[in-house]
Amino acid sequence: MSDAIESILQEDRKFVPPAEFTANALISSEEQYQQMWQLGKDDPEKFWGDLAKEELEWFQPFDSVMEGDMPDTKWFQGGKINASYQCLDQHLTTWRKNKAALIWEGEPGETRTLTYQELHREVCKFASVLDQLGVEKGDRVTIYMPMIPELAIAMLACARVGATHSIIFGGFSADAISDRNNDAQSKLVITADGGWRRGKEIALKSTVDESLEKSSSVEKVVVVRRTGGDIEMVPDRDYWWHDLMENASADREATPLDSEHPLFILYTSGSTGKPKGVLHTTAGYMLGTKMSSKWVFDYKDEDTYWCTADIGWVTGHSYIIYGPLANGVTSVMYEGAPNWPDEGRFWEVVEKYRVNIFYTAPTAIRAFIKWGDQWPQKYDLSSLRLLGSVGEPINPEAWMWYHKLIGGERCPIVDTWWQTETGGIMISPLPGVTPAKPGSCTKPLPGVVPAIVNEEGKELEANQGGLLVMTQPWPHMLRTLYGDHERFIETYFSKFDGKYYFAGDGARKDEDGYYWIMGRVDDVLNVSGHRLSTMEIESALVSHDLVAEAAVVGYPHDLKGEGICCFVIPKGDIPIDEVKNTLIKHVRHQIGAIATPDQIRFTPALPKTRSGKIMRRLLKDIAAGRENNQDTSTLEDQSILEKLRQEG
Ligand code: ATP
Ligand code: MG
Repeated sequence: MSDAIESILQEDRKFVPPAEFTANALISSEEQYQQMWQLGKDDPEKFWGDLAKEELEWFQPFDSVMEGDMPDTKWFQGGKINASYQCLDQHLTTWRKNKAALIWEGEPGETRTLTYQELHREVCKFASVLDQLGVEKGDRVTIYMPMIPELAIAMLACARVGATHSIIFGGFSADAISDRNNDAQSKLVITADGGWRRGKEIALKSTVDESLEKSSSVEKVVVVRRTGGDIEMVPDRDYWWHDLMENASADREATPLDSEHPLFILYTSGSTGKPKGVLHTTAGYMLGTKMSSKWVFDYKDEDTYWCTADIGWVTGHSYIIYGPLANGVTSVMYEGAPNWPDEGRFWEVVEKYRVNIFYTAPTAIRAFIKWGDQWPQKYDLSSLRLLGSVGEPINPEAWMWYHKLIGGERCPIVDTWWQTETGGIMISPLPGVTPAKPGSCTKPLPGVVPAIVNEEGKELEANQGGLLVMTQPWPHMLRTLYGDHERFIETYFSKFDGKYYFAGDGARKDEDGYYWIMGRVDDVLNVSGHRLSTMEIESALVSHDLVAEAAVVGYPHDLKGEGICCFVIPKGDIPIDEVKNTLIKHVRHQIGAIATPDQIRFTPALPKTRSGKIMRRLLKDIAAGRENNQDTSTLEDQSILEKLRQEG
């Protein structure tokens, strides 16, 4: 018997890139892509080595492109480089000197634009501040801030002096901060008094104060005044950002660092368990984020680009700051919620700044669908030319909505698959080349060589679902889990004896070589001996008019082994019970009797990580009627679990 995950979702729609888009694209033909991809596969040293020479600024050239195989590959050894230099200094001798690097909008409506030159100046000044505070090359610095320009300045200043930043999403608890402080042994914390979220002040400094009772490595705290809220400043420990910056020198060269110098630590979302402290290093990460953003977003110099992620997530690191700035792009940064003061806020921002490239997450798209078409319809979205999605599989019907309502049926959509661990986008359409199929992240980028294998590491045939692996190292892959190299090997490499990087996701590859992510391997259902993907059943549910969002999990079932439990967020008010039968029939009709739901449970909300991903592992406990004894530290709203239990 086959151990493959069976694919039951039918999706035959195909969207070819508009001719005009292709004509102006950086990568503009299938042949060009194939050639690059083949070189990346056959001769990665040449492929990445040439790019590193052309695209990065080196203080000292590297001696070798790659040394050693997975898991411990070293890239660009002997080279000296600095990430802040790549993002800033290199542009100052070009016309981009006075181009907007960051356009920032606060939730209450203030705006601030920093040109490359201005951002450079602020970063140099804060780098001098870090020097004064005794932060040295190799030290770890925690950043716990709202989405304000000082966050970008702080991270780039850390990079400038060679301190490794560890950014914690500004909404995590004191315990989450102290855990991460202790894990990273951070010396300094950079924070703000508070931030704005849905019109309310989120206190940050007081949370840091609490966390410091349990984080002994931290010596000093720098505080940005953002909200003007009432906070306590501890003498000789806490310093105001503006005081320190007042007389700081703007004359601070970027420190030349080894290629493998640790750039940052970032903890994963915790969708599948306790967060992991992913470590990225300098040269490989910069090359990967620069190239992937250039290929996938096809930047033009006149573009206004907006990635809506929080910088507390890897998407914000790679695609608000490092990737776009290395390319000299204008990157928009928005502080607040998508539904404040109303559900049209994102579209208002698009209209206001004439955003051309818009990159968001399926969780946001599903929220927009739920809020209704009237919101995007109120605004002029004609400036948009390219849309992106990241974070979870996008259900084909959500893709269609995005395509029609936001993209006006003219914008290609890049559905980008990647992970905190991969550092940058791995599988994605090239917008001028790859015909899109809704729900598929399509094909690997040049330099990325994935495969779909079974538990024994044997490659599966087309359309058989299996485990997604990477068969070759890439420059921007994680180097370790901070302080726990064993867990690093165990998590990503032990499954296939060090031969492949194991991503933890299930996927299939279709007859055209397109990848379809089927969800987490841990979440695969086993129904009467059939292995089914959660994503496919969810997509079938979401294709019904009454459904805004769905999460599917298995639970122990006497006859079938596992039963199918569907948690459904309806579009309007919670419908009456008959609708359950309608949905059950709909799923049967869409994907077949084997996927017939055993239970439909309506709910107004689902448990999600702070980055908006559905936490199916918690839903599994609820479906099975088990007590929860899992890590919920990254759960967005603790009360949802209680409600779901009661409603069960
Ligand atoms: P943890 O590893 O702690 O459980 P996490 O995996 O949610 O957290 P991230 O690194 O933020 O943390 O998320 C990466 C995961 O997100 C991928 O493994 C995949 O499951 C999912 N993902 C990201 N982009 C896509 C996409 N375009 N299509 C499908 N899934 C995606
Ligand atoms: Mg993960």
